[in-house]
Amino acid sequence: MSKSIEIIQPDDWHVHFREGDMLEMVTNFSSRINKRCVAMPNTEIPITDTNKASSYKELLKKASDNIFEPLIPCYLNENLDLEDFRTGIQNKVFFGSKLYPSNATTNSSHGVSDISKIFKFLEILEAEKSPLLIHGEKVANDIDIFDREKYFIDDELSLIRKKFPFLKITLEHVSTAYGVNYIKENENIVGTITPHHMLLTKKDVFLDDSINPHHFCMPVVKNESDLIELRNAACHNNSKFFLGTDSAPHPIHLKKPDMSSKPGIFSSPCSIELYAEIFDQENAIHNLEIFCSINGAKHYNFPINDRKIKLEKKEWIMSDLSSYKDIQVKNFYANKKINWKVVN
Ligand SMILES: [Zn+2]
Repeated sequence: MSKSIEIIQPDDWHVHFREGDMLEMVTNFSSRINKRCVAMPNTEIPITDTNKASSYKELLKKASDNIFEPLIPCYLNENLDLEDFRTGIQNKVFFGSKLYPSNATTNSSHGVSDISKIFKFLEILEAEKSPLLIHGEKVANDIDIFDREKYFIDDELSLIRKKFPFLKITLEHVSTAYGVNYIKENENIVGTITPHHMLLTKKDVFLDDSINPHHFCMPVVKNESDLIELRNAACHNNSKFFLGTDSAPHPIHLKKPDMSSKPGIFSSPCSIELYAEIFDQENAIHNLEIFCSINGAKHYNFPINDRKIKLEKKEWIMSDLSSYKDIQVKNFYANKKINWKVVN
């Protein structure tokens, strides 16, 4: 077995940079590896217009010494200024647009509760061939937390696809076998897959009378059968799936051992190494590059990156915390052994 591999520099098509000191910390981790990063717009004040998107992009660029390209989707809600949205999409100030169903995850209270009210924005995206990124969960009192993705696909996504058949859709952080199959079977829809949805199942989150808040994220991780389908979709050369870490940090004091905990897993310090580990376990290390560095760029019509990165097969232990100024964040895979490491 090879002891090292080189791959084209990856892009991360789903990262949460947050704001302030947290933004500075996360930017350094994510830009150490990736050329492009899609910076999620669910900041405390969501990114809903071109001015906010431009200044957020500048902040991100300033925070990194590395050459990297932040891409900012517009946070969709029914009150957006239509002309500002159109201009932002046409001039590529926005990298498409992000649909958060209201209350599905962190800072999504400004999200969408009635899909039909955002159709006018989806029309623009479809006409401009600009992508719609989706947090695909339907939230309702009578829907089990584990079934949210399925209900979203059946009730909302099918409707969007029927009304806008040429709209380019990314179902982000696919978490179920049902979602994987839906993407495989339908046109104009692709998916991103996180490392944690390929490493954890619900037993790692829900304990006897508490939860492990460091494994708690939205969409919540599911069953082993889902994990297996996600691994197959990522590792076995399916061009419809690509890298999106959904690395989503919260300060450690907001991580509580119950459902009041802030959801999100911070994987930026080791995400490319974990993807390598998963692909190696699946005897598919030769497909790591296509998943991490080619499929996404092709889908979004970007050039493939010039630089290469090198990973070596050697053991190391992920540290417990990432600290920066007054911030402490629990690392995903803390204190565990990882078998791959980026060496340049
Ligand atoms: Zn996310």
